[in-house]
Amino acid sequence: MYFVEVAIKVPLPRTFDYKVDSQLGEASAPLKPGMRVLVPFGNQRKVAVVLALKTTTEVPENKIKAIFEIIDDTPILSAEHIELLRFTARYYCYPLGETIHIALPSALRQGESPDKTSINMVALTEKGALLPSLKAKTQLNLLKQLSQSGKSSLTELKALGFSKKTIDSLIDKALITQSIEHDNHWQSVAPTVGSKPTLNKEQAVACTTINQSSGFSSFLLEGVTGSGKTEVYLQCLEEVLKRGEQALVLVPEIGLTPQTVNRFRRRFPDTPIMLWHSALTDNERLQTWRFCEKASCAIVIGTRSSIFLPFLKLGMIVVDEEHDSSFKQQDTLRYHARDLAAYRAYQHKIPLILGSATPALETLHKAINNKYQLLSLTERAQTATDNQFKLLDMKGQPDQAGIAHASLATMRQHLKRGKQVMVFLNRRGFSPTLICHECGWLSECKRCSTSATFHKAIGQMICHHCGDQYHVPHQCPDCGSTQIFPNGKGTEQIEEFLSSEFPQTPVTRIDRDSTRRKGSLEKALDEINLGGARILVGTQMLAKGHHFADVSLVVILDVDSGLYSCDFRATEHLAQLVTQVAGRAGRSGEAGQVLLQTHFPEHPLLQDLVNNGYQDFARFALREREDADLPPITNMAIVRAQGHNIKQVVDFLTDLVPVSGVTGIQLLGPIPAPLEKVAGMYRFQLHIQAQDRRVLHQYLAQMVDYLSTSKLAQKVRWSLDVDPIDMI
Ligand code: ADP
Ligand code: ZN
Ligand code: ZN
Repeated sequence: MYFVEVAIKVPLPRTFDYKVDSQLGEASAPLKPGMRVLVPFGNQRKVAVVLALKTTTEVPENKIKAIFEIIDDTPILSAEHIELLRFTARYYCYPLGETIHIALPSALRQGESPDKTSINMVALTEKGALLPSLKAKTQLNLLKQLSQSGKSSLTELKALGFSKKTIDSLIDKALITQSIEHDNHWQSVAPTVGSKPTLNKEQAVACTTINQSSGFSSFLLEGVTGSGKTEVYLQCLEEVLKRGEQALVLVPEIGLTPQTVNRFRRRFPDTPIMLWHSALTDNERLQTWRFCEKASCAIVIGTRSSIFLPFLKLGMIVVDEEHDSSFKQQDTLRYHARDLAAYRAYQHKIPLILGSATPALETLHKAINNKYQLLSLTERAQTATDNQFKLLDMKGQPDQAGIAHASLATMRQHLKRGKQVMVFLNRRGFSPTLICHECGWLSECKRCSTSATFHKAIGQMICHHCGDQYHVPHQCPDCGSTQIFPNGKGTEQIEEFLSSEFPQTPVTRIDRDSTRRKGSLEKALDEINLGGARILVGTQMLAKGHHFADVSLVVILDVDSGLYSCDFRATEHLAQLVTQVAGRAGRSGEAGQVLLQTHFPEHPLLQDLVNNGYQDFARFALREREDADLPPITNMAIVRAQGHNIKQVVDFLTDLVPVSGVTGIQLLGPIPAPLEKVAGMYRFQLHIQAQDRRVLHQYLAQMVDYLSTSKLAQKVRWSLDVDPIDMI
């Protein structure tokens, strides 16, 4: 008889010991860490993952229970992987059992067999390769896609927006075929490499430095948009593939940037590349998981959670647009994929490349302190000149729908020259509130401390925080007046105005509302790239990674809301957003023009950004953080609590504040959250800060222990966020 330490999905910060009866061990394969077992838990049977075998336990003999059954023949998690998950659970103060549950594909959570390692591939037939003309445009697009990318998995085509129906109709026409491929170990033959440009000097230095590094090293590849960062990744990956190793490429969102995926495909046409993102089915997740584990795929391009994929021989991790907030999970296990990537690279002793035009201050801080090696690309690869920024003072400016007449005039000039123009406003809907002209009534959400947004096209008021919908009132609920007007601007209103102002010019809007239907984003992007759309209106969905060749002017409508916010990161996020949006202009040939509309043109942040660029702004902002003792100079965690009873929420947090203070720890709170009420619940926070990360983690570990027994904790919903990236 011996014992095992297992992790079970329960909200407790601990693991559990069970005994293994000797005859159970004989009946199946010898038990090893990483295998799943069935155990009694209370009066339930639960799937558990074995963490360690041991000969002794602290659980008294009459209390210890025996496992029922061993599920696996071989471990589903390697020792290294268990270590990663232990680290994750410890760092983010989250129960290990739940951490493992989140990391595993759902089939494995439930105890299903891991052996489903076939994959559906689609390829052109000879007839299809001739690209016959077809009436259905999406069918033709699919043929074109396959002729560019070669054989592709069904999963990948779906990620690119092609429906099962489109695929099936082409199979019926014998233009494409479908086949099932089994997991055959990827052979490390020299990969075929598609045509590639000669690197410029800075790119060459970056590639050589990365390729010549040995063991664990992190690089910050800081390069303005269009400076050829992706080209650097590709040429570094080539070396990784030549060594027969695998690579993980983390990207913010795959659906938004199918172009990136295609570039990888074209460069390495016969290398198995898999995608990982939220639209995969359970089965596809399991397949990808297993292909990684067996080294049947060489490159994974994935969103946040791909950081938990198992790799047999990982050779490099790339995090593209490393500043992007989508790498941080904002509920349950609040991990940051970029930071876990650093841990994994350290574990595997491999290079990590973090690339961005607008590095997060966290990353820049590490680069300045030589924890990460800084590699700079200062020139745009295909454009000789930089974009020209101009601050447009809105004070006293005549405007229509929030667009200054001066901006409209500039737009006209660019459109006349056959160029595309982008108008950016980070607020969807028609207007953020309705207001009564007689009494000042505002359309507030009944359950949140915020207003409900007017969506004119669908004739509804929608709260963007709780999702509640309301009828659009014809009369003021307070005074009965019919003088109710939209107050403030959203993208829907901008689109409506521009369509009437430029009746001959096609306007395309891209935001979460306009792209809700499947395939609509792809359609809109196609329209833009094929030149149909001339004016593009959108939210930050437009800012991310797209390559719009013809955009020569970007108008940014409302930068002021980011200048005066209670979140100390607001200015950093504003600067990143402005720089990223601006980066969409002037991507081929001539320099683009960027207009920033503001009431505060003399604001030092805007001046710095416009005159000296993000690089300079970021270094200045870091010094400000230093003076104010804020992250990333110090380390932070937030305890958030919410509940219907405001007193219980405040009491819960007050109870966590020690009367006499703790050395090395600064506490702030309980304070109301910036949005004090959402969906009927009151929200408060406690901010915890420490100079020393170890001190912070010791403190948090004790607190989590205490919380698992606290009665007050059971009356509210609480969460702990380590390294939070926003204050909401
Ligand atoms: P980033 O990832 O920094 O935005 P990309 O790698 O996408 O930049 O490069 C922008 C454009 O410049 C792409 O069309 C790319 O093919 C091209 N490009 C990159 N490096 C070079 C180079 N050395 N010579 C010529 N063109 C290049
Ligand atoms: Zn009124
Ligand atoms: Zn609401």
